[in-house]
Amino acid sequence: MRKYSLLPILCTLLLVAASPILADPVPGVSRGGATILHDVRPSQPAERVRIAWLSEWFDGLFGTPADTRVFIIDSGAPGATVFVAGGTHANEIAGILTAVLLAERALPSVGRLIVIPDLNTSASTYTESTTMPSWIRVDTTRGPRFFKYGARFTDPVHQGEPDPERYVHPKGGNALEGVEARNLNRAYPGAPDGNLTQKLAWAVMTLLRSECVDIAFDLHEAGVESRLANMIVANPKNLDTAALAVINLEMEGLSMKLEPSSETFHGLSHREWGDGTDAYAFLIETPNPAQSSKNGNPTEDPKYPLALRVATHLASIGAILDAWNDGCPPDKRIAFSYYPDWHTVKDQGVGALLN
Ligand SMILES: [Zn+2]
Repeated sequence: MRKYSLLPILCTLLLVAASPILADPVPGVSRGGATILHDVRPSQPAERVRIAWLSEWFDGLFGTPADTRVFIIDSGAPGATVFVAGGTHANEIAGILTAVLLAERALPSVGRLIVIPDLNTSASTYTESTTMPSWIRVDTTRGPRFFKYGARFTDPVHQGEPDPERYVHPKGGNALEGVEARNLNRAYPGAPDGNLTQKLAWAVMTLLRSECVDIAFDLHEAGVESRLANMIVANPKNLDTAALAVINLEMEGLSMKLEPSSETFHGLSHREWGDGTDAYAFLIETPNPAQSSKNGNPTEDPKYPLALRVATHLASIGAILDAWNDGCPPDKRIAFSYYPDWHTVKDQGVGALLN
């Protein structure tokens, strides 16, 4: 097994010093060689929360920089199992903060919730551009907190092999730029003996199957002019559920576009999770100004503030779960004693509800 390099962490700390948004870096803790940069503080009753590591489902991740924490919040009552992942792309910060908020506060009363706030933690360890922040600050009622703003791709130092000239998914399709070999959202269903990104994808697929996940969400962001901004992408088998959610969101004042997964573009979560497991699979995209231009502000943009984007993710997940409940068998419902209110997040900021 490859030894984990400290170089990316040192680089991160140097970039931290140069970042205008940064205050204090969050100290890392390590486990099996993987340095953890992420601050997640669950506050649900202790008997309802289990904190695991993704390597529990696939031990090929153990000791690698791709092992990441899994927060399981169980109502104790039978129902649906819901999976939420943030940080597939570690620069898509609204998805990460939505997942953190759910891991810290959401409390199912029926069914259970499995959250991975920082799915590609290797991608978190570095920053792609010196114009991007390394950390973002969120003020809460208990003081400031800091969240890692990373990169889109697995760190090349961790991948275990150089990028190919062109990347072609094993199932075929168009040849992409070689760097896409390190894009987790092109790697599904992954491979147990592949490079680190393929192993990470394999671990997620294994978790979805082993835990009999019913509904799975992959939270993303795109540039503000991107066709994908404010869009839900749904596996064709669960397109109806997403369509009902989009109608209900419109009535709440949130306009989301809807697309089915491409029939020919392989490797994406909504396509492969839905095709390869029993889960209904959804990907949600919000607009991040920092992905449009090097001067874009990832948190304080007047038109696309972080709070609105996190609120959009929360509302979209909630609407899809409501639509699921409308059509599912009685023993497959998901309900919450507490679910973070998206209006509060939109009006008062993410920090209003973070612990
Ligand atoms: Zn993304």
